[in-house]
Amino acid sequence: MTDRYAVFGNPIAHSKSPQIHRLFAEQTGQSLSYEALLAPLADFTGAARSFFRDGLGANVTVPFKEDAFRLADSLTERARRAGAVNTLKKLEDGSLLGDTTDGAGLVNDLVGNARLSLHGRRILLLGAGGAVRGVIEPLLAQRPASLVVANRTREKAEELARIFADLGPVEAVGFDELQQSFELIVNGTSASLTGELPPISPKLIQLGRTVCYDMMYAKEPTAFNRWADSQGAARTIDGLGMLVEQAAEAFLLWRGVRPDSAPVLAELRRQLLAG
Ligand code: NDP
Repeated sequence: MTDRYAVFGNPIAHSKSPQIHRLFAEQTGQSLSYEALLAPLADFTGAARSFFRDGLGANVTVPFKEDAFRLADSLTERARRAGAVNTLKKLEDGSLLGDTTDGAGLVNDLVGNARLSLHGRRILLLGAGGAVRGVIEPLLAQRPASLVVANRTREKAEELARIFADLGPVEAVGFDELQQSFELIVNGTSASLTGELPPISPKLIQLGRTVCYDMMYAKEPTAFNRWADSQGAARTIDGLGMLVEQAAEAFLLWRGVRPDSAPVLAELRRQLLAG
């Protein structure tokens, strides 16, 4: 029987994960199937348990990452701290291991694809939702000079600063407190989904020096990246690379083989621009 994998979400029809994993499988000569499965909003657990009767691994996307965290029988350390799971793997004894690969995906995109060094840099993270939670640990592992988390609801940023305090210097602020510039700004708010911009000052951008990254991606540049370009950012990057890199980490966990993400990212970019 073919090794079976899937991605769960709701909605899920738009997901690029089946295509990414098919390309990884082709490239590495692995025989597997990967499908997109719509889980009912009220019963992710039932859908996942049914799949794992014969399925070997699954990705989990919005809004089920916390349900997957609760479903997992064991957790990687990075998933435990993030409080979210985007990758499940059935172990030999039939139990489910939960991992989160979003953060590694972001860092691999920044360091591997964009060739940025994060060591000693001043980094600003905008937002304090699930995505930001998952990226703090791998960003701190790069030993930045400072990591500031700014959120509309300041208390949520404060909670994250407390959770990760033992791993490095994390400071929580409200948007209105941000006055100095940063070398890297990562937008992990969902504002771009509705074409909005977090209320941030142009002072955050140092002309020709600041790199801006939006976790969202679309055919046209996101509202945040358009704003950053208009303020003279050195460079703007969208989240398509993060998507492909988090998938590559999941593939590695499942199959023990790391695919070459570069040609897959190039193909997805080509399709996004043509779409
Ligand atoms: P959540 O719903 O968990 O968090 C949303 C965050 O955005 C909160 O911090 C919220 O603030 C903030 N926010 C929402 N609207 C606004 C606004 N208008 N102005 C300022 N802040 C706002 O979402 P996720 O963390 O799961 O996802 C965030 C983004 O990251 C999405 O765009 C998603 O598509 C993207 N993403 C991309 C991935 C990739 O692989 N490229 C992977 C995962 C996520 P508050 O707390 O005050 O409500």
